[in-house]
Amino acid sequence: MAGTKTVLTVGSFIIVTSILFDMNKLNLFATICCCVFFFNCKSQNNKAMADHKDNPYYSRTDTAHLHVSDAEWKKILPKDVYNIAREKGTEWAFSGKYYKTDERGTYYCAVCGNHLFKSDAKFASSCGWPSFYEAMTPTSVRYEDDNSVGMRRTEVLCGRCDSHLGHIFDDGPPPTGMRFCMNSAVLEFEPDGK
Ligand code: FE
Repeated sequence: MAGTKTVLTVGSFIIVTSILFDMNKLNLFATICCCVFFFNCKSQNNKAMADHKDNPYYSRTDTAHLHVSDAEWKKILPKDVYNIAREKGTEWAFSGKYYKTDERGTYYCAVCGNHLFKSDAKFASSCGWPSFYEAMTPTSVRYEDDNSVGMRRTEVLCGRCDSHLGHIFDDGPPPTGMRFCMNSAVLEFEPDGK
């Protein structure tokens, strides 16, 4: 609500200013759009920070690499998130909250708030886990060889906090042909425009 009030206040200020200084309509529209976008992003970030008030490492703006011990994460994270993120666990197929989600928005790391995936890169996979064909940026994630459980796989970790997110396979759709097979519990979805 505070964010909405701020947008309305700023919008009113711009309209009055535009009348006084005779700005053209296109400039007025562009300025209002920029302000709405800016305050909407700020409002989303404030809500995310409030939801993670017990996690001092959580941020959607700080991209600095984190060096936090598992003992410290264990004190901070919910049990299911800790199990997957720090103990390399895997949730049951078809059990995660995002495997069928097709809304437009952004997927963040549930541990540290790092930007991981855009919904544009999500595709309907029959594997039972949320699947993406590319990460949001080249540094959103990093990769490690994983030879556990008798298989040769490539593990995907958060580029900021090194938490385990899932694995990547080469049976995805175009344009990359890759399938980032992720665990819902370590993702946090923020719909566009909320
Ligand atoms: Fe992270």
